[in-house]
Amino acid sequence: MNLHDRIYVAGHKGLVGSAILRALEAQGYNNLICRTRSELDLRDRGQVSRFFEQNAIDYVFLAAAKVGGIAANNDYPADFIRDNLLIQTNVIDAAYRANVTKLMFLGSTCIYPKLAPQPLKEEYLLSGDLEPTNKPYAIAKIAGINMCQSYNRQHGTSFISVMPTNMYGPNDNFDLQTSHVLPALLRKFHEAKELGAPTVEVWGSGTPKREFLHADDLAEACIFLMKHYEDSEIVNVGVGEDISIKELAEMIKTIVGYEGEIVFNASIPDGTPRKLVDVSKINGLGWQAQISLETGLRSVYEAFQKEYLIKQ
Ligand code: GDP
Repeated sequence: MNLHDRIYVAGHKGLVGSAILRALEAQGYNNLICRTRSELDLRDRGQVSRFFEQNAIDYVFLAAAKVGGIAANNDYPADFIRDNLLIQTNVIDAAYRANVTKLMFLGSTCIYPKLAPQPLKEEYLLSGDLEPTNKPYAIAKIAGINMCQSYNRQHGTSFISVMPTNMYGPNDNFDLQTSHVLPALLRKFHEAKELGAPTVEVWGSGTPKREFLHADDLAEACIFLMKHYEDSEIVNVGVGEDISIKELAEMIKTIVGYEGEIVFNASIPDGTPRKLVDVSKINGLGWQAQISLETGLRSVYEAFQKEYLIKQ
């Protein structure tokens, strides 16, 4: 990938896409192509084909997806499977037809079976039943992985698939109904502190464990893999450590400086008990995450206070 190559970042307004865009800019790539949702609806095959025909794109980071936390996935399963299948099918197929040099498909660790051994090795894909709360999303992502592999086999394309663990960072979704746990808890503890509320509700039992990767680390990993990884097999990206939701809540409580109590609402689903990824493959290739959870949380909380609250 050369500095003047035409690189399309699909989903550049989101958590992952915006981080990839920032990292590419910082590394001096000077031909970056982005389209907002209103300029290009990736669910529309005709629009996507025309966009690729007209833009002579060399590299694609496919970070556009319909994403959300446990409640959104549970409440809108049809939207999650439809939008993701449409977006990825349109982009992958148009990229092949337009002869792009290389495409990276961003997946998720929810593609792994609910009760797979931990840490999750890449080879556990399709070895057991999925977690029901995000199965439609996971099946769309598994279809995307297989589509990249199948195009490589049938058409000789160079399409690679990367599976990041749970992510956080700037430009995250802080809406309490649709967000993931980390931004939700930052917001809940912040608001409880501001209002002097005696308790903060944390969903589920607090016992599930999750691994959290800063989007800036993921972006570095994506650029690294785009340059150095050629295989059709998936690659995990993570930090190699996880913590319980209870520990996360306590860490956020301390960072925010909230002094009330944490209350667990066990009537809300826990989702998958654990999804720690095995990072030996990417570490072996020469890449490692750099941002500790504590450092990342402090910087996201600072940005949340500065940017998000002002926009409200
Ligand atoms: P998941 O990793 O796909 O399960 O998605 P989430 O990030 O939404 O949820 C992770 C875990 O955090 C689940 O066990 C949730 O029940 C729990 N959780 C606790 N409080 C919250 C909250 O306020 N919002 C969300 N989204 N999850 C929460």
